[in-house]
Amino acid sequence: MNEPVNVDAAEIARFQATASRWWDPAGEMRPLHDLNPARLGYVERSGALAGQRIVDVGCGGGLLAEAMAARGASVTGLDLASELLQVARLHAMESGVAVDYRLEAAEQHAIKHAGAYDLATCMEMLEHVPDPRSVVAALAELVRPGGQVFVSTINRTPRAYLHAVVGAEYLLRLLPRGTHTYDKFIRPSELAGWGKAAGLELLDVAGLDYDPFARTAGITGDARVNYLVHFRKPQPAGARA
Ligand code: SAH
Repeated sequence: MNEPVNVDAAEIARFQATASRWWDPAGEMRPLHDLNPARLGYVERSGALAGQRIVDVGCGGGLLAEAMAARGASVTGLDLASELLQVARLHAMESGVAVDYRLEAAEQHAIKHAGAYDLATCMEMLEHVPDPRSVVAALAELVRPGGQVFVSTINRTPRAYLHAVVGAEYLLRLLPRGTHTYDKFIRPSELAGWGKAAGLELLDVAGLDYDPFARTAGITGDARVNYLVHFRKPQPAGARA
């Protein structure tokens, strides 16, 4: 494997430290567990996942990858944290679900698998990489013309600072301190711009509202904190949709 450049080793180490508790719904990854049904529902708006070829970039221990595979999709999960991939593989075996987990960056995977997927997902990962724009470009490369890309991240607003950093890390202690860096949060307009530059068409921006007390999440019109973006890679001119 060539050394990937677009990665922050400290970020990988921080996530890797939680490997053994990744699938514990009461552990440090609890917010991801709570967000997962809403994220899955958003991806499913594009249609049934059965039979779809999906790449999940920054899949971690496999919460979303496994859920999509359980719906009948053929899922490849990419991450650069080897211990998280081990956890993901073991968990998939226990669940009896097949997912192809690979220790690879999206940019590397795109070299050999350009256009190989119907859908690409990248959840809660862009705010942890040095060059998120390059990841968006890779997501665009990975899907076929007519394919769809789903991304979730955190907006760079005072409200997001309050909820995702002060609230989640300090007051409620839901996440380990240092999980999120405010400067790395991404505005929807920035994400939309990177998508456009990569040739993607913006279909939707939706808020992902998280209630840590009720432990529920839902899709809303308020994208001030967590949000999801749905892109499509256009068909070449003249091709049928
Ligand atoms: N997408 C998963 C995990 C989110 S946590 C979910 O939402 O359930 C962020 C994940 O991104 C971690 O697993 C971390 O190891 C991974 N990650 C961080 N930088 C990465 C990079 N450059 N390439 C691939 N994965 C990366």
